[in-house]
Amino acid sequence: MKWINHQIVTGFIVYAASDNALFVASSIVGAVLPDKVEGSPPQDSRAYWKWRKNHRTWSHYPPLYIALILAAHFATEYFQNPHVELILSLVTYALFGALLHIIEDAICGKVPVFTPHRKHGIKLFKVGSWQEYFFAALIIGGCLLFRFKDLFLSEFNL
Ligand SMILES: [Zn+2]
Repeated sequence: MKWINHQIVTGFIVYAASDNALFVASSIVGAVLPDKVEGSPPQDSRAYWKWRKNHRTWSHYPPLYIALILAAHFATEYFQNPHVELILSLVTYALFGALLHIIEDAICGKVPVFTPHRKHGIKLFKVGSWQEYFFAALIIGGCLLFRFKDLFLSEFNL
């Protein structure tokens, strides 16, 4: 999935779930984190293949992000301070955005699930294809429907 679609899809999912602009912003930053930590692919061919070998391994390993989310949760409990809580919430939403990135990658390629070097996934569409944009639009529509469901229900007297 292209970065712009990672950011839009993740932003809308977090918006539907949290209705909080700060958390949405934070998740959008996290939405490109797994690719960002890998750096851009090097031009030199030997360096490229070395980079390619580690592409989508540790950076896209879900248990790592889940462990960090749990650590942030326990730190929040430990400190019991509203400022620390806000910062850790932003960190948690950024990590959640990274997790969504991995799920989004798993539907258009392969990502590690159980071990960092064995990848799994289903290829629903090709990156950058019209199907990707259609999928992104479907998710956005679903999120808006969820967020404004009461409005829709009262509009149609349901
Ligand atoms: Zn990725």
